[in-house]
Amino acid sequence: MEGRSKAAPADARRQNRSLLLRALFRAGPMSRADLARASGLTPTTVSTVVGELVDVGMIEEAGRMSTGSVGKPATLVSVVADARHVVCLDLSNDDEIRGAVVNLACKPVTRRTIRRRSRAGTLLWGQPVADLAVTLARELCDSADRPLLGVGVSTPGVVDTEGVVALSAHLGFDHLALGPLLAERLRLPVRVANDAHAAALGELALAPGTTGNLLLIRITGGIGAGIVLNHQLVTGASHAAGEIGHVVVNPRGERCACGNRGCLETVVSVPLARLRAVGRADRPTLVRAGRHLGAAVAHLVSALDLDTVVLSGIDEALGEPFRLATLDAIRSRTLGDLGQRLDLRLSDFGDDDALLGAAVLILDQELGVA
Ligand SMILES: [Zn+2]
Repeated sequence: MEGRSKAAPADARRQNRSLLLRALFRAGPMSRADLARASGLTPTTVSTVVGELVDVGMIEEAGRMSTGSVGKPATLVSVVADARHVVCLDLSNDDEIRGAVVNLACKPVTRRTIRRRSRAGTLLWGQPVADLAVTLARELCDSADRPLLGVGVSTPGVVDTEGVVALSAHLGFDHLALGPLLAERLRLPVRVANDAHAAALGELALAPGTTGNLLLIRITGGIGAGIVLNHQLVTGASHAAGEIGHVVVNPRGERCACGNRGCLETVVSVPLARLRAVGRADRPTLVRAGRHLGAAVAHLVSALDLDTVVLSGIDEALGEPFRLATLDAIRSRTLGDLGQRLDLRLSDFGDDDALLGAAVLILDQELGVA
């Protein structure tokens, strides 16, 4: 009991810091009065917490803003983007692991990649891939010239809350303790998540104006989704929420790598990958793939009352016909109002969606900003 009573004020302090940082991350520089309104904290608490955050260099005073009324202009405060840095990795690419050091505004300050191949040039699987991830993360940590908050990792596969990758066919991981391995080697806070889950959290934290109810569909070699409801990532009973790629949409369709026929991946990601490989935006193929995807996710949009669907991993060249066909298919399968107000867009973060999402994992865990 003693421990608990001691922890409570620390928790409250941490929560108050998170509320202010989250408001500043979302809205940019604000006055103390605006921060009190946005966070629901009292002006006295805001002043105290702002003072603490200024003392540790996390926020700074950033000029004055006229309030339009009598009296002196309000002083604005803002996050110091380079007060702390975060190391992030994305393991979802075919042939390489991508990494970066990013600042608190999620702007990369250093980027590095490492090939997922042996010296002889063969593609690596399982533990050697995890060892490469450690090597890349260590190089990035060594290159950082600011205090690091931690290391965030996006990986294909099902990942539990301890950072153990239960299964990733893409990387040959089978109950691989990637998070614990990185934490032990780097002595920093580490958080590992499924790539689509991380990208969804990134979208939530970094894209302006999200309402906190979104579905992010990541189309790479396969398809994964991240679902955010009421600003919370949905992980499900076994951390596998959003694994929609092997839902069968055409039982007489093409054979899938999983053994079934006509999985969503075979009618969406496979044809899109073929177009990408030949560098052609064949409209009928894009429209057909979009219709299949829309038909499959209309259920999710309806069941969860989502107002935003974000497509990521789609080149802009392929994007528009595919996006419109997907939107059309969702609208024709959902009740009028829900479909009409649905915002279906391509991710603004391009190839960086899962990488920046990995950074947001740490920003959220350490500062509570997502
Ligand atoms: Zn399948």
